[in-house]
Amino acid sequence: MMDLHCHVDLYLDHQEILNDIKQSNFYVLSVTTVPSAWEGTVKLTEGLMHCKTALGLHPQLAHLRQNELPLFDKVVSETRYIGEIGLDGSRGYKEHIDTQLLVFKHILSKCESFDNKILTIHSLNAVEQTLNCLKQFPKSGKPILHWFLGTKKQVLEAVELGCYFSIGPAMLQSARGKKIISWLPLNRVLLETDGPFAKVNGKVMFPSNVNLVIEYLNHHWSLDTQSIYDQLSKNLALLLSEKR
Ligand code: MN
Repeated sequence: MMDLHCHVDLYLDHQEILNDIKQSNFYVLSVTTVPSAWEGTVKLTEGLMHCKTALGLHPQLAHLRQNELPLFDKVVSETRYIGEIGLDGSRGYKEHIDTQLLVFKHILSKCESFDNKILTIHSLNAVEQTLNCLKQFPKSGKPILHWFLGTKKQVLEAVELGCYFSIGPAMLQSARGKKIISWLPLNRVLLETDGPFAKVNGKVMFPSNVNLVIEYLNHHWSLDTQSIYDQLSKNLALLLSEKR
């Protein structure tokens, strides 16, 4: 199985998260929030074959760290994985939306000079603008909308744009989250935790906790566990394939 959005470097106890990745043997996308964290995060998970480090600049940090864009450009060719990137229109961040747009578009435009990037994207309270940016840079890569909270119409729009959706245990905590999951096409669903930020009942999520989502899908999709594993594995394989 997989966790396609995990902030491995931000867990308090690195040994604990590394052990979870080793023991689960899941495919883990280790996302970063600033380009200066990339090199150290790569080192942290060295030797974990199925753990890939993504190069990111988080929208909530865009106004503080846009000075790291030259570093982003310098190392972008070293990884296929980009994230966490995106836009955030929530209180406390929407006043920096212009800087966020500048950073996000800069990154998408850089990614267009490659043909195989995989992007994990934050779009909290800025879904429309995020989808518009993806429309503007259609060759930036394969987008995964992480913890997506849009309308049904926006889900359809995102599907049309080739987006995947990564859903995690914390998304099952709200009626809204579950409603959105019910709109997602089976062949675009992937798993994530967003640990250590995401918690369930006060407990920090680890990659092995994606099992909670599988249990949920078991009922929701009325498929047996094996078929769910097969579907999710197929989705991951398609995401990772070079085919667009
Ligand atoms: Mn995140």
